[in-house]
Amino acid sequence: MKILVLGGGGREHALVWKLKESPLVEKIWCAPGNGGIAAEAECVAIDAGDVSAIVAFAEKVHPDLTVVGPELPLVNGLTDAFRQRNWAVIGPSQQAAQLEGSKIFSKEFLARHHIPTAEMYGAYDSSADVYKALSSVAWPVVIKADGLCAGKGVFLALDFASAKDFVERVMEKNELGAGGKRILLEETLEGEELSFIILTDGNRYAPLVRTRDHKRVYDGNQGPNTGGMGAYSTDELLPDDLRETIRSKIVEPTLHGLADDGIRYQGFLYIGLMLTNSGPKVLEFNCRLGDPETQAILARLDFDLAEVFSDVASGRLNPSKLRWKPGASACVVLASGGYPGRFESEKHIEGLTAAQQINGVKVLHAGTKLAGKIVVTNGGSRDAQRCLSLRLRCCLENPLRRNALPKGHWRSSNPLESCGRLASWRRCRIYSGLRKSTCRWRSYPKSMLWATPGLKAAHTGGPATRARFCWWIARHWKPWTSSRELSERTSPPMA
Ligand code: ATP
Repeated sequence: MKILVLGGGGREHALVWKLKESPLVEKIWCAPGNGGIAAEAECVAIDAGDVSAIVAFAEKVHPDLTVVGPELPLVNGLTDAFRQRNWAVIGPSQQAAQLEGSKIFSKEFLARHHIPTAEMYGAYDSSADVYKALSSVAWPVVIKADGLCAGKGVFLALDFASAKDFVERVMEKNELGAGGKRILLEETLEGEELSFIILTDGNRYAPLVRTRDHKRVYDGNQGPNTGGMGAYSTDELLPDDLRETIRSKIVEPTLHGLADDGIRYQGFLYIGLMLTNSGPKVLEFNCRLGDPETQAILARLDFDLAEVFSDVASGRLNPSKLRWKPGASACVVLASGGYPGRFESEKHIEGLTAAQQINGVKVLHAGTKLAGKIVVTNGGSRDAQRCLSLRLRCCLENPLRRNALPKGHWRSSNPLESCGRLASWRRCRIYSGLRKSTCRWRSYPKSMLWATPGLKAAHTGGPATRARFCWWIARHWKPWTSSRELSERTSPPMA
């Protein structure tokens, strides 16, 4: 099977990594790819959002299957162009992608199909209308720019002054471009956030393993939001009864709603939820896999991804094929100094080979490129904000995990030892979080960055931690699979 993957971030690198493991796959192209993907697939210098250029490329190479990573090609109608030509593709149609591309569309969809979500006060085309509406909302209020805004389109306003400032920047100064032409106001929800992701062929669906991401840039859940500083996945992240509620109250009504609206949805649907006191409520839909959730999810994959994708594309998804490794995985990110604000790029990254050689470690890149033989942070791409990404998966089978981790002593010149210690540390953290059933993401002490084996970004005049670095820890603390878990793996048909 020859496969074309669209995108160039850590998510796409993880997809390429797992697709390449399939014996069915003989060739992978990735457009545009990145410095790390280039070692595993043929990178093609085409913007993933450029529909006509991608179609022209596919006409030339005839991939058997195309997998769309980011949202832009979906919103631009790439899958429609492919399906018109009877080309197999993973990703929903342009109309379905409105669930992500327009927050107002998504809100109206949720209301129409009685799916729990925050109450919408209204949708507005002008700043004057928003200011008027702000006089009758409950504070704090959530203000959302309608379109895609790369994580900058949502603002939680505590008072009128800050609300006005955001609306002014979005609607009057057009700081978010076309995405800010319309605005909606909605109720603020309180609770824990959770991502629930499914794969569907439009008829049947299979939930992926449970995952949660971490967005704040600094330790202790501090600092501005980012595109994602890490994610982890464990089955214990979500109690079974809550999982059933999410399936029956949110996932299935959503898929039925799409069918009722005449939309056949094929691909991944990411449902961002707030677990409120009155039950789970939808915060957002994404029409693709999340980044960095994908990296944690795919680390637990125990099936042939290419085969399942091919089933989805032909409308024959068999949910029981999606098997997952028990235990947990984690993905941790190091970002360039300055991120998510301004930062320097084109910096040489060292230590990649040493990191990759560690048992159970997988290094994945985002926002990197090859400059000759060296990998550098890439300032030219949209993903550059996320900068270099190395993702490591540290198997806890590693005997070094038994090393007690001396708190606060993270620096080590021995990469394996560092990694083993790191794995122990994460295991403890994740586990203690679960035991308290708060499941909050724990952030990392700054000193932990130094535990990262052999990693040094060669930056002149700045701190060494100028790279984004992830590692995954797979932990097999539950070596059996319960019968309940097995039955959950097969979802009922959606008819
Ligand atoms: P963008 O278009 O800028 O990429 P986005 O897709 O990131 O936007 P959302 O995912 O809808 O926007 O919201 C981002 C974050 O804002 C959520 O993860 C959540 O933390 C917070 N949020 C959104 N809606 C609400 C709400 N009603 N109440 C509380 N928090 C909310």
